[in-house]
Amino acid sequence: MKDQYGRKIEYMRVSVTDRCNLRCIYCMPETGICCVSHEEILRFDEIERVCRIAAGLGISRIKLTGGEPLVRRGLPSLLGMLKKIPGIEQVTLTTNGILLKEHMAELAANGLDAVNISIDTLDEEKYRRVTRGGDLRRALEGLEAALACPGLRVKINCVPLADADPSDWISLAELAEKRSVDVRFIEMMPVGLGRQFAGTERGQIIDTLEGKFGAARIYRGERPGNGPAEYLTFPGFAGKIGFISAMTHKFCSTCNRIRLTPEGYLKACLQYDTGADLRKMLRGGSTDEELRSVMEKVIYEKPACHHFEEQGREEEEDSHIEKKEMARIGG
Ligand code: SF4
Ligand code: SF4
Repeated sequence: MKDQYGRKIEYMRVSVTDRCNLRCIYCMPETGICCVSHEEILRFDEIERVCRIAAGLGISRIKLTGGEPLVRRGLPSLLGMLKKIPGIEQVTLTTNGILLKEHMAELAANGLDAVNISIDTLDEEKYRRVTRGGDLRRALEGLEAALACPGLRVKINCVPLADADPSDWISLAELAEKRSVDVRFIEMMPVGLGRQFAGTERGQIIDTLEGKFGAARIYRGERPGNGPAEYLTFPGFAGKIGFISAMTHKFCSTCNRIRLTPEGYLKACLQYDTGADLRKMLRGGSTDEELRSVMEKVIYEKPACHHFEEQGREEEEDSHIEKKEMARIGG
């Protein structure tokens, strides 16, 4: 369906957990994390019900996200349940890749359409530092397992921090040179701990990559995903290089997404906490029609855009600014 600004809303990010087996410095504190309890988290049958009703409202693509979605037991079976919903054309996954190798066969058997793997650097020591203890080799094994799956679209997501070494961007881009994988650089967003970190402007990354690989061309082919990434191609590359720059190249006017948090809160926009508590309705005996009507209203009233660039002033004035960390929103 379309929202009040005429945007077609067809994509829902479903966060299945706020827990993660890593502790990236820009996402989670090292200790003292207060996780949502098991009782508060939506059960698979509840997630399936929300997705079925969402499909009736025009949602055709779902991304399973977290925290780290693969720490939730039985995730491949949820994937299979969602793939069976009439109207759901694609179910994809975003993961840090650490548990991907052991789950890949089951995910593929349940019909996974695409996977995004978050890897910020190919330097083992830096990876350990950024993720606070993560083992890069396991993430790369997950990547290899994904690349070995016939027909599975694979992307790598990198959040380039301001103090990153440009050689990190080159080594990540080399993966797209040699393998059939798109590498995307995602601009840091001022949500949760991300507010404490500066990102890198994409012009700097493009200059670095052009210096190494030659002039890039803007990719004008079919959009290879659900979202706002803009892609470049480099001479001789098997994959593409993408940029998602929500701050410096704001794309809210073409936003197509809503979010479901692990606790079952339907969120219309990343920056605002406006939406609806569907868990209360699911567990309070609401009918599908009642849920549909509330979800329809949330989608219709989706905010026009974020105002992160005005954050200090906005927070004082707007009590609906999202205060939660990214892992509890679904990234
Ligand atoms: S950024 Fe992703 S992998 Fe890192 S701590 Fe957050 S949820 Fe986990
Ligand atoms: S900030 Fe809100 S409107 Fe803008 S792209 Fe993100 S979810 Fe969409």
